[in-house]
Amino acid sequence: MFNSKHYIVGDQNVSVPAHLNFGKYILDKLRLKKDEVALANGETGDKLTYKNLTQYAVNLAVSLIKLGVTVGDIVAVGSEKRNEFVPTMLGIVFAGATYTPYDLRCGRAILKHKMSITKPKYYICSNLFWNTYKDVLMAFDCVKVFITLDDSIESLISLKSLTTNNNANVDLFEPVKVQGQTDVAFILYSSGTTGMPKGVQLTHLNCILNSLPHDFSDDSLKSVFVFGEWFHNYDTFMTYKVLAMGKKIVYINKASPEIFLQACEDEQVNIAMVVPSLVVYLSKTDDFEKFNLDSFMFIYSRSSPLHSKTIENVKKRLPKLKNILQGYGMTECGEPTSENWGTKGPKPGSVGMVSPGTTIKIVDPETRKILGPNQRGEICLRGPVFMKGYIGVDPSTYLDEEGFFKTGDLGYYDEDTYFYIVDRMKEIICYDGYKIAPLELETILQLHLGVKEAGVVGKPVPYFGEVPAAFVVRQPGSNVTEEELKSYVAAEVAPFMQLKGGIRFIEELPRNTRGKILRRSLREMLQES
Ligand code: AMP
Repeated sequence: MFNSKHYIVGDQNVSVPAHLNFGKYILDKLRLKKDEVALANGETGDKLTYKNLTQYAVNLAVSLIKLGVTVGDIVAVGSEKRNEFVPTMLGIVFAGATYTPYDLRCGRAILKHKMSITKPKYYICSNLFWNTYKDVLMAFDCVKVFITLDDSIESLISLKSLTTNNNANVDLFEPVKVQGQTDVAFILYSSGTTGMPKGVQLTHLNCILNSLPHDFSDDSLKSVFVFGEWFHNYDTFMTYKVLAMGKKIVYINKASPEIFLQACEDEQVNIAMVVPSLVVYLSKTDDFEKFNLDSFMFIYSRSSPLHSKTIENVKKRLPKLKNILQGYGMTECGEPTSENWGTKGPKPGSVGMVSPGTTIKIVDPETRKILGPNQRGEICLRGPVFMKGYIGVDPSTYLDEEGFFKTGDLGYYDEDTYFYIVDRMKEIICYDGYKIAPLELETILQLHLGVKEAGVVGKPVPYFGEVPAAFVVRQPGSNVTEEELKSYVAAEVAPFMQLKGGIRFIEELPRNTRGKILRRSLREMLQES
């Protein structure tokens, strides 16, 4: 009945179309453009115009409807990155069905897990995906029809034969009617860094809110890089935001920094939506000087924090760059904070202010008491952008008594209500009563010139709980030693945060497909060492 004075409430006047149909929302935007490039594969040079993208999506929707696809059906897509991926997602949603993606690199165990959560009825995959996972796919008898994006093989129907036979009238086509507040448009998956992924159901309303135009609507910003990981919410909704603004999306197949820089030069990228490890790479590499990056205006990074010195280093090396902004987001609720800065403008290290429509509170993880400015606690949120729910999980396990989603993230806001993320609560290392965020130590280690990347976890010790231990990948050619790095860190942090658990040098950090460090694998490696 009463709000707390410590709730941080975003602007409640968010305008969404009255139909609340995500497919119709995007289709109406796509129809405004014709021969402009919508998608450019920066690696192969393949391009798709707005006109062709829209025609493909509408043709597919018509074909799916003829096949019997209807509201409530789940249609899965499993593929490598390619131009067809985006109109295929859209065709499914235009048909009123629910889209769910599986990543080619996810592996058999995760694929089985995800399919057993979603139980798709129709499956659209590439021949490569089929050949990689055929036996897993065929074991699921929930799938009634398999369709391939390529030429027909085995028992798969070719999508090409479905979509080239009809040349549907794009201007007169209407996406199938849905109940936008409750019908599920997308099922994506939680990141699974601490456990198995969960199926996140996003309604049409959720998807529209996640795709409202970005602050980068300025007409001079024409070309936007996203990695093209369309099984993840960040790239998926960034893609729709950018398409809704009529700009060009540039993506690459392989997450290689050199290919990324080449694509940015070739496609004159103005804004790059990236992961923090790439910004760290930009702050150190010499490759960087080989490319002309004068078109670069903004870098936008999400998933984990960036150190302010990393940001300064990149800015020094790219004088035309206007800013590097950090975002905070998650599959369950898009971007609860965003770069709609107040009058003070961006603050280094901050992930922005509360997003329109969302309400955030910070609570003490033990007492659940609401905290005020500059007090670290669990970030909890609610609002219309929040998912319909996880598939098969009791909401009382993730919502509190006021209906706020318990994100599991530790953070705070300052006196101007700018938010800062500290780490996942589960990852916090408890040493002799002190709380240590591994992310803080990782960002400090990454600033060292001899360090390519670093992961930190707690090492159990008698009496004191845990001490921080680091896994470090050296920069090529570096011989930095454990002692050097320990004293470097000791000079930067409070005594209780020192790397008392030691440093292990390894060749590569275990990461999930989004590049997030898998700390549970590091903990296993620690036990074995
Ligand atoms: P995902 O659902 O894969 O997008 O992962 C969401 C999680 O990523 C959040 O709950 C946070 O733990 C983490 N995350 C996202 N953005 C940031 C950020 N800017 N800083 C730190 N952690 C972040």
